[in-house]
Amino acid sequence: MRKTTPDTPADLFVIGGGINGCGIARDAAGRGASVLLAEMGDLASATSSASTKLFHGGLRYLEYLEVRLVREALVEREVLLRAMPHISWPMRFVLPYHRDMRFESETPISKMLGLAMPWMKGRRPAWLIRMGLFMYDHLGGRKILPGTATLSLKGTKEGAPLQPRFERAYEYSDCWVEDSRLVVLNARDAEARGATIMTRTKVTHAQRDGALWRIETKDAETGAKATHYAKMLINAGGPWVGDVIHDKIDLPSREGVRLVRGSHIVTRRLYDHDKCYFFQGTDGRIIFAIPYERDFTLIGTTDAEHKDPDRRPVCTPEEQAYLINFANQYFAQSISDKDVVWTYSGVRPLYDDGASSATAATRDYTLKVDAEGGAPVLNVFGGKITTYRRLAESALEKIGEHVTLNSGPWTAGVAMPGGDFPVDGFDALVQAVSEKYSFLGEVWARRLVRAYGTEAETLLGEAKSAADLGRAFGATLTEAEVIWLMRQEFARTAEDVVWRRTKLGLRLSEEEISALDGWMTSRRERADAAE
Ligand SMILES: Cc1cc2nc3c(=O)[nH]c(=O)nc-3n(C[C@H](O)[C@H](O)[C@H](O)COP(=O)(O)OP(=O)(O)OC[C@H]3O[C@@H](n4cnc5c(N)ncnc54)[C@H](O)[C@@H]3O)c2cc1C
Repeated sequence: MRKTTPDTPADLFVIGGGINGCGIARDAAGRGASVLLAEMGDLASATSSASTKLFHGGLRYLEYLEVRLVREALVEREVLLRAMPHISWPMRFVLPYHRDMRFESETPISKMLGLAMPWMKGRRPAWLIRMGLFMYDHLGGRKILPGTATLSLKGTKEGAPLQPRFERAYEYSDCWVEDSRLVVLNARDAEARGATIMTRTKVTHAQRDGALWRIETKDAETGAKATHYAKMLINAGGPWVGDVIHDKIDLPSREGVRLVRGSHIVTRRLYDHDKCYFFQGTDGRIIFAIPYERDFTLIGTTDAEHKDPDRRPVCTPEEQAYLINFANQYFAQSISDKDVVWTYSGVRPLYDDGASSATAATRDYTLKVDAEGGAPVLNVFGGKITTYRRLAESALEKIGEHVTLNSGPWTAGVAMPGGDFPVDGFDALVQAVSEKYSFLGEVWARRLVRAYGTEAETLLGEAKSAADLGRAFGATLTEAEVIWLMRQEFARTAEDVVWRRTKLGLRLSEEEISALDGWMTSRRERADAAE
């Protein structure tokens, strides 16, 4: 850990190891700033591992006229795809059309249409969807992703899982991303560029000390306390951004955060093709059904007010029933609680723009600097996984007013760790890895290349057989991989490994996870004793 003193302060101290904190840390470290980052849990342990995992423009935000956000996100999809073709990939979204589809009555577009065409009574007409998709296709200047197409659902693979009343659909492009791996790769790259990343380290208090911040932290595992000094504080606490402002640094700020919980359910695989569905409800909301981890389908999300960031978000029985009922308005074969194998839930830390409903609150980000009482602090509100890199660039613009940086924006076009291969080169890389390590077989090789990209070979080293990778923990997880995750990716516990660095928790039994945890604990203890 980098030791700071009042005479040798860091340039930046970042609170929060979610996508925004890690994205800012990476960008700043790459511009020569000295950076410390503290995350009270595991990296991405809060919202940034609980998203729908889409690099998307956000089609529905067009109805809220959030054109700036949609445009920035659409452009960003391809920038990100190129930088990380292992953990992100293009996806086609099938949007079945039916005349029962309704607007969320709050949206500016629905209000305008209600005035101009009162006979539509809140209906979301097909021509309006087509117009939205036209904008979606053209706002962001696509080069990789194909544009919108119309689709018959009669006798097609896309129509087969749906009720026969759906006869036609639109199909458009967005992208998938492994959200928690994205965070870890940003943290790793920040570290490689000189940043100090401290996980399981909670910021308990920070106060201005003349032109510096004096920051107190507490190690969540050992209870050890430490003091750090920095020229500028970055509050990327996500759902805790308000808690940090009011409780940890006593800032007299009136900025507010609105916490909106979103839950997902994961079911057994519900259909046989690789496209996603975009379902519109009669309540004006939308949900996605997405092929997930080869054998599963991911369905979400909900919008529910969530008051207390310290209350761990869970998918309530009501939210689960809502998602099941929503999906059952579309799928020919109804699903029930019995089909649900896992649920997860996250809290959106949205900037409080005074919108009346959770669905209507802005998804755009807001950056506020407070430098009035001495050393500056930057508070980060809102944002999307998709716009994290642009958010970091905007943050660095503000940071540059207070801290010397040795270069301008640099992250567009620079590969993330393991992402240094062509955007269409994934299959070729899987083939190369499968040939070199023939004992893996296709499914295992694919999983490793998806997770580690070109670094899969570094992880596998000279292995000639599965036995060379050490103990097998189940579901193709081996000692070699776990050691990689502990050494390179800040993993401390089995939960970090099976729910955030991988999603093998869907396949491992409770006994296997607990055996992994025991093994990791004793390895950690041995490593700590050796230090
Ligand atoms: C249900 C849902 C679906 C979503 N889907 C998408 C999507 O498909 N695409 C998309 O682009 N975006 C999506 N988003 C939005 C996106 O996930 C969030 O905007 C983003 O993850 C927020 O990242 P963050 O870094 O601000 O917050 P977080 O990931 O919550 O990170 C904040 C971190 O700060 C830490 N912290 C807080 N206080 C302290 C302290 N005192 N000391 C140390 N650490 C502290 C926390 O432990 C936490 O890890 C979705 C969000 C939700 C909830």
